Amino acid sequence: MGSRFPPLPTVSDLVRLYKLRAKKQLSQNFLLDMNLCHKLVKAAGDIGGAHVCEVGPGPGGITRAILQKDVQKLSVIELDKRFLPSLEVLQQSSAGKLDIHMGNIMKYDMESLFPESSSRVWNDKPPNIHIIGNLPFNVSTPLIIQWLEQISNRTGAWKFGRAKLTLTFQHEVARRIVADINTEDRCRLSIMCQYLCDVNLKFVIPGSAFVPPPKVDVGVVRFVPKKYPIINLPFKLVEKVTQHLFHYRQKKCIRGAQDLFPVDKPELVDEMFQIADIDPSLPCFKLGVEEVGRLCHVYQHICQRYPFIWDYNYRDQKSVYLTKLRQVDFMDQGTIT
Ligand code: SAM
Repeated sequence: MGSRFPPLPTVSDLVRLYKLRAKKQLSQNFLLDMNLCHKLVKAAGDIGGAHVCEVGPGPGGITRAILQKDVQKLSVIELDKRFLPSLEVLQQSSAGKLDIHMGNIMKYDMESLFPESSSRVWNDKPPNIHIIGNLPFNVSTPLIIQWLEQISNRTGAWKFGRAKLTLTFQHEVARRIVADINTEDRCRLSIMCQYLCDVNLKFVIPGSAFVPPPKVDVGVVRFVPKKYPIINLPFKLVEKVTQHLFHYRQKKCIRGAQDLFPVDKPELVDEMFQIADIDPSLPCFKLGVEEVGRLCHVYQHICQRYPFIWDYNYRDQKSVYLTKLRQVDFMDQGTIT
């Protein structure tokens, strides 16, 4: 049974009362339609008794919908201080359940928000911890990449187990996150999200539902971290290989992979595809997550054999120069400096 609030001004009233005009540079598009706020919170699943972190509560529509689900604790993280008074109105009627943190989510350590008692072993069912947010467009992709790294390392909110996330993205980005193999939207983000999480596009909110309306529609995506990541390797390694593989969308996937290796070591990229048993002429969007994983494993072995390969960055002339020096040293002395 959800909590009932004493009569409160509506979110639209608060926006008017506090003259909360959206700031474009903070990607502020408010969801003031409470039916949609409830629908978004419902997409997170059963959050009764949960510890929830809401990112970017703004004037507090989704915040209200979360509080009405009888959560144990709701911590909100908001960058824009102008929202403090309207959030405090909600706090006063939340029976101590709402904690307000002013800060930048990109720098916020969520580990401090959850109690040790809610912790679960990774392979157990997920803890009753949820991360929910109508994310600002300008931070949504770097933020999910940062969180995926934390999921991979089991740090931050994921120190407590496989905490679920329900987040909004521009519809186009949401489609890329969930894109299947062999589809138009398949990209680096699809692999990075899908090797670590089960992802599900729950529903789409038309841009016209927001105030002010963005030019694009918005997709609500739910992430549940997998018990066993499909690729069991360090995040940075998977990220580097995936970034290269998906660099040239229209070309053969070997084209991007070539840039992982110095030009005078072309045999290594052939070796990578041969040992991984992948057809190098495939376009990248035809690669499955397991196939990318096999390429990552071979790349890791090559880096163990020639450690200077890991530091090599084809865009960085200094790194190209240093790689050459190390190669010469490696060949001359049989050692790497
Ligand atoms: N949740 C509200 C809603 O649905 O109406 C507001 C959503 S609005 C798209 C994004 C919110 O995130 C804004 O309140 C904005 O101030 C906040 N925000 C933007 N960048 C942020 C950051 N780096 N850290 C925390 N909050 C941020």
